[in-house]
Amino acid sequence: MFSPKGILLSGTGTNRPSATLRRIEQGEIDGIQAFDELLVEELTLRESRRIKAALMMARLTTIKTLAGFDFAFQPSLDKNRIMALAELKFIERAEVVHLLGPPGTGKSHLATALAVEAVKAGKSVYFSTLADIIASLAKAEREGQLRERIRYLCRASLLVVDEIGYLPVVPGGGNLFFQLVNARYEKGAMILTSNRGFAEWGEVFGDPVVATALLDRLLHHAVVVQIEGSSYRLRQHADLVPEHVRSKALINPPPPPKKRGRPAGVKSTDHDPG
Ligand code: ADP
Ligand code: MG
Repeated sequence: MFSPKGILLSGTGTNRPSATLRRIEQGEIDGIQAFDELLVEELTLRESRRIKAALMMARLTTIKTLAGFDFAFQPSLDKNRIMALAELKFIERAEVVHLLGPPGTGKSHLATALAVEAVKAGKSVYFSTLADIIASLAKAEREGQLRERIRYLCRASLLVVDEIGYLPVVPGGGNLFFQLVNARYEKGAMILTSNRGFAEWGEVFGDPVVATALLDRLLHHAVVVQIEGSSYRLRQHADLVPEHVRSKALINPPPPPKKRGRPAGVKSTDHDPG
């Protein structure tokens, strides 16, 4: 139940009175106005508690926002496209968003910021690196819990898999990841980030057959955003960094579509009847 006392205690985590309570005591606002303001405070507080808890559940420990992203630094990136993704319709459509680009170009930042938007909108989210997700699947398999683990990872309406391509995938890891991707296919949205082009996935997953099967699912109903720019991390030291590291994408163009997929780089492959 709503109560000013509840506000007093819950509003601050200490016994510090809220600004509204102070104004009541000082006779600055009357009862109804005070009630209104306290209600808003309580709702704001509950909302921020809900968001905090959901961010923890999502394993979103580093918070990034779209407002904190300097689009001017990455001119190859279409801001409108990212803002359209922030409307989260791709989650309802169970699409896959690929963020591709060299290190430091803001892939994790954007993936996190979109995940934060989803949490704020009340969507369930799970954020992980590819290495961690494969490790957790491998552990579950050893413990005879693979099916349960996959079911758990299918519960989130948005699964973010960060850092595809940085670390070599352990033997059997591609197969485990495929089982997860297949279980989510056309049921739940994903955001994937990678510094490697799709043509290199055979190498990334150590298995061209698994890579082809993965891409088959992950490029159907997909949005591919390719960032071709320099590293934000290195921006202050650009003159100290060799040209080949500093400039431009190291990513190969994506391969032509497989039987079902459309060419990567197309805006969206949703509503594909075939
Ligand atoms: P990537 O995942 O592509 O390697 P990150 O998203 O981790 O790169 O970005 C590296 C760091 O630089 C992070 O702290 C991120 O917040 C910051 N960053 C990257 N691009 C931008 C940008 N355009 N505007 C603001 N901060 C950025
Ligand atoms: Mg990253």
